Amino acid sequence: MKFLDDYRDPAIAAQLVGAILEAGAGHWKVMEVCGGQTHAIVRNGIDRKLADKVTLLHGPGCPVCVTSTDLIDKAITLASREDVVFCSFGDMLRVRGSEQDLLSVKAQGGDVRTLYSPLDCLKIAREHPDKQVIFFAIGFETTAPVNASVVYQAYQQNLRNFSILCAQVLIPPAIAAILNSPECQVQALLAPGHVCSVMGCSEYAQLCSRFHLPIIVTGFEPVDILQGIHMAVAQLEQGHARLENQYARAVKPDGNKVARDMIDRVFRVVDRTWRGFGVIPKGGLSLRDEFVEFDAEKRFELTDRPAEDSSVCISSLVLQGIRKPCDCPAFAGSCTPERPLGAPMISSEGACAAYYRYSRQSENSERMKASRSQ
Ligand code: SF4
Repeated sequence: MKFLDDYRDPAIAAQLVGAILEAGAGHWKVMEVCGGQTHAIVRNGIDRKLADKVTLLHGPGCPVCVTSTDLIDKAITLASREDVVFCSFGDMLRVRGSEQDLLSVKAQGGDVRTLYSPLDCLKIAREHPDKQVIFFAIGFETTAPVNASVVYQAYQQNLRNFSILCAQVLIPPAIAAILNSPECQVQALLAPGHVCSVMGCSEYAQLCSRFHLPIIVTGFEPVDILQGIHMAVAQLEQGHARLENQYARAVKPDGNKVARDMIDRVFRVVDRTWRGFGVIPKGGLSLRDEFVEFDAEKRFELTDRPAEDSSVCISSLVLQGIRKPCDCPAFAGSCTPERPLGAPMISSEGACAAYYRYSRQSENSERMKASRSQ
C-alpha cells in the first residue's frame, strides 16, 4: 500500500477482519495504548466486528487524561496570579483540579490562553516583559522534542520571564505498570506508532522480553490497526512474544535521533505521578539542572499537596484498561462531554469521549438500564 486512502479502504479492512476472525481457536485480549487508536477503533466499529475473537482493552494513551490532579492544582495556582500569562492546550482548560478548572480561572479574570504551538509562548513573553509567561507542558514523548526546543530557545535568548509547568510523561514505564498489575488482562499490545517514530522501538522490545507478550508498533488508520491486531493474534496463536513493526512507513528502529537528542539535552527522567496510577518510577521528564530556571514549580516555589479526585469517576480503572467507559455508572448520565466528571470524557483523545461520541451512548444506556434493573 502506498497512499493514505489504502489504509482506509473498506475492502482491505473487511479482508483483515475475516483473517483475524479465522485465525485459530483462541480468544485474546489486546490493548491499544494510544487514545488516537482508541478513537479509530470505536469510530470504525473495529471492537464490535472482532468481538468474537478479540477483546480490545483501551490503555492510558491520552496525556490530558493522565496529568495528575496535583499538577492541575499547581496550574490553577499559577494561572490565578495577576503577574502571569498562563498558556495551555485547549483540552486542559476543562479538566478539574481539586476545586476548579483553568476555564474558571479565566472566567474570573485570569490571563489564560489557548495555544496551538508552544513556540507562541516565546513571542508572548517577548511582547509582555512585565509578565511571567508559563506554558503547561503536557504530553508523551511526541510533544517532548518541541517543548524541549522551546525551553532551549528561551535559554539561548536569555528570556527570563518564561517558564514551563512540566507534566511530560513516558509511555514504556506506564505499560510496565499495567503489565505488573495483578488485575492485568492484557495478552498483547499495540504500541503507539507516533511515540515510536520519535523514540524508536528498543524499549518495546525490552517489554516483550520482560513480560513475554507480543507488541506490535501500530499506526492510526483502520487498516493499520487491523493489521496490527492481525499480527498480534497470529503471534498469540503460535505462542510467540516478539516485537513487530506494522508502522514501518513512519517508524525507524532508532526513531528520530535529532528529536531524541533535543529531549536528552533539556530533560532528565524522573518518577512522575500519573492520574489513575499513582507514582510511576521513571514515568516522566523534568528539566535538567542547567535549565532549572525555566521550571515554574521551582521559580514560584510550589509545593506538593495532596489532591482529591472525584469519588464517582472510575477513570483510574478506565486508564489502566481494567474497566471500559460503559462500565462507569456516570457514563452518558451524569457524565457527558457537556458536563464531564473526568478527563477521559473531556479530552478529544479520551476513551469515554470516544464511546460517547461514536454512538455507544444508546447501546450502553440500554446495557446500564438492564444492569440497574437486575
Ligand atoms: S464516564 Fe465520566 S465519570 Fe465515568 S470514568 Fe469516564 S470520565 Fe470518569
